This record gives sequence, C-alpha cells and structure tokens, in this order.
Amino acid sequence: MSITSINPATDQPIRSYEAHDAATTRKIIVATDRAFRSWRRTSFAERTTLMRAAAAVLRQRADSLAHLMTAEMGKPIKASYAEVEKCAWVCEYYADNATTMLAPEPVETSASKSFASFQPIGIVLAVMPWNFPFWQVFRFAAPALMAGNVGLLKHASNVPGCALAIEQVFVEAGFPADVFRTLLISGRDVKAVIRHRHVRAVTITGSTAAGQSVAATAGKALKKSVLELGGSDPYLILADADLPAAATACVTSRLINSGQSCIAAKRFIVVERVRAEFERLVVEAMRGFKMGDPLDETNTIGPQARTDLRDELHGQVEQCIADGARCLLGGKVPPGPGAYYPPTVLTDVKKGVLSYRDELFGPVASIIPVKNEREAIKVANDSVFGLGAAVFTRDLVRGEEIATTELDVGCCVVNDFVKSDPRLPFGGVKTSGYGRELSHYGIKEFVNIKAVSIK
Ligand code: NAP
Repeated sequence: MSITSINPATDQPIRSYEAHDAATTRKIIVATDRAFRSWRRTSFAERTTLMRAAAAVLRQRADSLAHLMTAEMGKPIKASYAEVEKCAWVCEYYADNATTMLAPEPVETSASKSFASFQPIGIVLAVMPWNFPFWQVFRFAAPALMAGNVGLLKHASNVPGCALAIEQVFVEAGFPADVFRTLLISGRDVKAVIRHRHVRAVTITGSTAAGQSVAATAGKALKKSVLELGGSDPYLILADADLPAAATACVTSRLINSGQSCIAAKRFIVVERVRAEFERLVVEAMRGFKMGDPLDETNTIGPQARTDLRDELHGQVEQCIADGARCLLGGKVPPGPGAYYPPTVLTDVKKGVLSYRDELFGPVASIIPVKNEREAIKVANDSVFGLGAAVFTRDLVRGEEIATTELDVGCCVVNDFVKSDPRLPFGGVKTSGYGRELSHYGIKEFVNIKAVSIK
C-alpha cells in the first residue's frame, strides 16, 4: 500500500510513499523499545544539548520545512514559517525547564528520606492531525523525549512528507537512532500498535471519533492515554465590550490556519444590544482577508487541507442555512482547482441549527444572538465540547470571574483569543478530551510518578 500526498492548492499529487506493513511496524516498535533502554539512562544535560540542537536544525531548515508544510496541507507560507519557529521555541522551553520540572520532590515521612521521583515509561505513541503538522508533534515530542521516553509518530495520512521530515530533524540533531520514529500507517492500523506490549501510552490530537476509538483500545489494554480532541469554542461578546477589538480578535481566531484550528473561535455569542454593530464589524473584517495561493505572502487564507474536507464543510454550511441560519458573507464554493472555501459568516444561529452544536472546521463564523450575559454563559456551556473560550467585556473583574468559574472549558481568555503557549497547560474537558499538554503538567502526563522511601 502507498500513501500519496496531494497539494490542496492545485489538486496535484506531490509524492507517494510506501506504507509500513505490519511486519515493518513491529520491527520499528522493537527498535524503538531497544533505544529506550539506553535513552532512559541519559542525563538531563545530554538531553538538553540534543533538544537545543533540534531547535537549531528546525531554524536552519526553516525554508524547506515551511514549504513542505504549505505544499502538503495548504497553510499560508508565512504561517508555516511561524510554526517552525514555534516548534524551536517548545524544544528550547523543555530543554531549559525539564530538569527542574522533573526534579525529585522531597516529602517528610517517618522514613529517613522520602521523595516522589519522575521516571520515564517507554514508548509513547502519538497519533497526530494535519492542521499544525509540525507544532502538534513537537509539543508532544519535546516533553516526552526530555522526560526520557521515546516517541512513535503516526501522523495524518495527508502529511507523510512532514512526518518523515520530523523524524529527520531528530536524526540531524544527533539523537540516538530510534529514539523518535515515524510510522507510515493508516488510522485502522493504530489499534495493533497501541496493543503492542512495548507501547506504554498513547496521545492523540484529532477528531472526537478518532479519540473515542483510541481511548477504547487504550482502555482495554490498560494503557495511559491523553486526548486532545475537537472543540467549538464560544466567544462571548457582552454589552460593554470594545466591539472593534472584539470583532478583530474573533475574526483573527476564526481564520487562523484558514479556519482549521481546534481552538479557533467558532461560536460568536453576542448580546442582542450590540449584535447589529458586531455583525457589521465581523463581516467587514472577514472581507479583509485575501484567499489564494498559499505561497503568495500577500494571501492570508489558503485552501482547506483536502477537497473532501472542504466539501464536507460546505455541506455543513448548507445544512445550517436549511436549519434557519442566515448567510451574511461567503457560503459558496469558488470555481477552479484547489480546496478553497471563502470566509463565511452565518447569523441567527439558534438551538437546532447544526453549527450551534457541531464543530465547523473551516473559515465559517456562527453568530448566536442572546438576550444577556446570563444567557450567553448558558449557551456557551450548552455544548458537548469544552476546549477553549473567550469573554469580551470592559469589566475585567467580571471577565476574570466568568473565565475562571463560569465556563466549562480547559483554556479561557479575557479580551483576546486563545493561543497555545508552551508555558501554559493546554487541553479540554467534556468531549474535547482529557489530560494536558505543555507546561509542567504536560511533561508529567507520561512519567511514572514513583514514591521512594529509605528507612
Ligand atoms: P482525524 O480524522 O481524527 O485525524 C487525526 C489523526 O487520527 C490522524 O492521524 C488520523 O489518521 C488518525 N485517525 C483517524 N481515525 C482514527 C481511528 N479510528 N483510530 C486511530 N487513529 C485515527 O482528525 P483531523 O480531521 O485530522 O483533525 C481535525 C480534528 O482534530 C478537529 O476535530 C479538531 O478540532 C481536532 N484537533 C484538536 C486539537 C487539540 O489540541 N484539541 C488540535 C488540532 C485538531 P488518518 O489521517 O490516517 O486517518
């Protein structure tokens, strides 16, 4: 079987890769497990040097890596460069901080000495999505390898070139052979990998359906899992919000990565008193984005990552309109090649409209009018998802209170949009998943927290 990458800007195939069959997959797992036995004994100082070298390789190879990302999934080229740089940042962040984060924690007991120690566990499998094909992988790999684990990557099938290039970054940085390996396999083959006795844990970033499947297999095999799944982030625009700033933040977030981000603003929940002006500002801001060839630096929106995903998105928009939403902008598939879909604004999105409850993974804003703050909070929480959220208000005290205690999500900001940051924990609640990535919480997900006492 082969895996072919297709350029979503042109619909042209880029390259085919031979997929790994079951025997090759097993060989790679065994080699990775062998690598773990010596990697786990390396010092933090050695790992730090290598992780810093990985950051340097990323920067040296930024041109080719950014162009590869743009070719395989259509990300505007400037955003691809920014993503490479963010990966270098997360490598350096864990290179700088892992030693302190995983230092033994002394505890007073009746023994002469007691402490909690953080030991590596072995192979961690990462099942990753195409939308941030480098960032999603590095934010898993940097803490996992710094903790002394080894990594196995099963990347999305439309970015095989990125998957192999990431493996190569670690090789070029000087990591020992097989400490980080890529498996070119399909989603169907993941179950067997999770069940393999050498694989100790799995982390997945992707859709809720894929997360359910991975969690079920991991649960049956009693292996630790972390799930970073879908979201339909609510952005609350209260009556006292700075409307131009709120509209800019909402639209920027909605259109990041051509609309394909788990933490994009997806539901714009606006109180009726300021609804008309907010709608006008949102439509104006969405119009200001330029869609086209992702290699042209003046374009701010590229194609969607695959034509089938674009078509699915368009079907969802049509369903929303059939359900009673009004389309204020976009909503039409443009003619010509490429998986393009224009910035689209839907309003009057009420309960019963598809985008009130489901995630739309593309450049489509759903405006939900509500009577007041209380209803805004209720609607925000009336979702199976709980990833990110934002609140726009001039009352910073109330904004902080809503962000901290009222919204049932994993990340929440006031007067800005949600971004992942190596220093802050990242993850969701409800069907958006469980576990945390990034910060010291992320590095502790895949360690054996071992209690040691000396009488
Ligand atoms: P996806 O279809 O779930 O794919 C993600 C990964 O899971 C791919 O590697 C895919 O492999 C694999 N996969 C699919 N079905 C599987 C199964 N049954 N068992 C095991 N692996 C399986 O998701 P996507 O369309 O690429 O990404 C979009 C979704 O990811 C959105 O819902 C988005 O919100 C979410 N996301 C979440 C975060 C977060 O941090 N919470 C970040 C980014 C994206 P194949 O490609 O081979 O099918």
